[in-house]
Amino acid sequence: MNKTINICDKFYETKNISFEDFKFLMELENYEDLNKYARELTLKNFGNKIYIRGLIEISTFCKNNCYYCGLRNGNKNMKRVRLSKEKILRRVENVYSFGIKTIVLQGGEDDFYTLDYFGEILRDIKSKYDVAVTLSVGERSYEDLEGLKKLGANRFLLRHETYDREHYKKLHPSKMSFETRINKLFELKKLGYQTGCGMMIGSPHQNLVNIYKDLLLILKLKPHMVGLGPFIPHKDTPFRDYPHGKVSDVLKILSIVRIADEKILLPATTALGSIDDFGRERGILAGCNVLMPNVGDVKLRQNYKLYDNKIGTEMENKDHFLNLNDKLKRIGYEISLDRGDY
Ligand code: SAH
Ligand code: SF4
Repeated sequence: MNKTINICDKFYETKNISFEDFKFLMELENYEDLNKYARELTLKNFGNKIYIRGLIEISTFCKNNCYYCGLRNGNKNMKRVRLSKEKILRRVENVYSFGIKTIVLQGGEDDFYTLDYFGEILRDIKSKYDVAVTLSVGERSYEDLEGLKKLGANRFLLRHETYDREHYKKLHPSKMSFETRINKLFELKKLGYQTGCGMMIGSPHQNLVNIYKDLLLILKLKPHMVGLGPFIPHKDTPFRDYPHGKVSDVLKILSIVRIADEKILLPATTALGSIDDFGRERGILAGCNVLMPNVGDVKLRQNYKLYDNKIGTEMENKDHFLNLNDKLKRIGYEISLDRGDY
């Protein structure tokens, strides 16, 4: 009798997992059965199709000071740049020409993008292109989120980072609040956004109980997406000397999240690809079904460093697009050009 499969079956059926069973899965030396279990669920629900989200980084300005992130306000070595509405629209036009139907606008928490200005951006994108728009721009007021939703934003990615108050305090300065972060996620869902939470694996001071709690949040919030990847140190942050998260841990938790919700949108992240040459492919084989190549502006890309040694995932022309499809074909998958709603 295979204990891994037993635990997976039980978790899949009951959506409930004890800490002991979770620990057993996370400590597996050989976790191929776990990855395979999750991979088969993904294949059952999505076939061998991988959704593509075009990621456009819009700003390296950030008013926050998260201890782990290169964009943190206290980092004086960071060149701060942002995209105007016109530049963002030009990038969207480029992506749209490849047939990509979802774009993600991501950036630091930058008050330059007021509700009015964001509104103009959304209105213009939505009136010209048939694309789903995901925002990943940090915490915004309820009024802003409501307004942005009305103007056409479809999805919002806001990683909760950790579902443990004490751990949260070790990752963020006291100005940032654990409660606010978590409440925002429930707000986003209430407002009708397709909502994504997520966390870094191997962030400083994280233990297995913390990751178990992250899973409990996922089971409670029932997000439409979960963004998770390894923590990777950045040289100009207080966490510069911590090691990066382990690939194996990321692959295990990805599979566990897939079993928690077989229909969830689960990206194989750039961070995972940055610590392992085949990281993103391995993520897909562990149950992921989304990739977010960078389709943004070169200047932004050069400066948008959340962590060190970030790999390039840029998709600027049809060749890049075909290359990515070739990479996927090598592991038996292919690009899907659907919008990929939950
Ligand atoms: N400012 C927005 C979006 C940009 S940051 C926000 O904070 O939500 C997007 C994500 O990058 C963060 O949620 C965090 O989980 C991740 N990130 C930041 N620094 C990182 C690091 N050093 N290693 C890995 N991921 C990191
Ligand atoms: Fe800013 Fe987001 Fe980085 Fe925190 S994680 S410093 S909010 S960009």
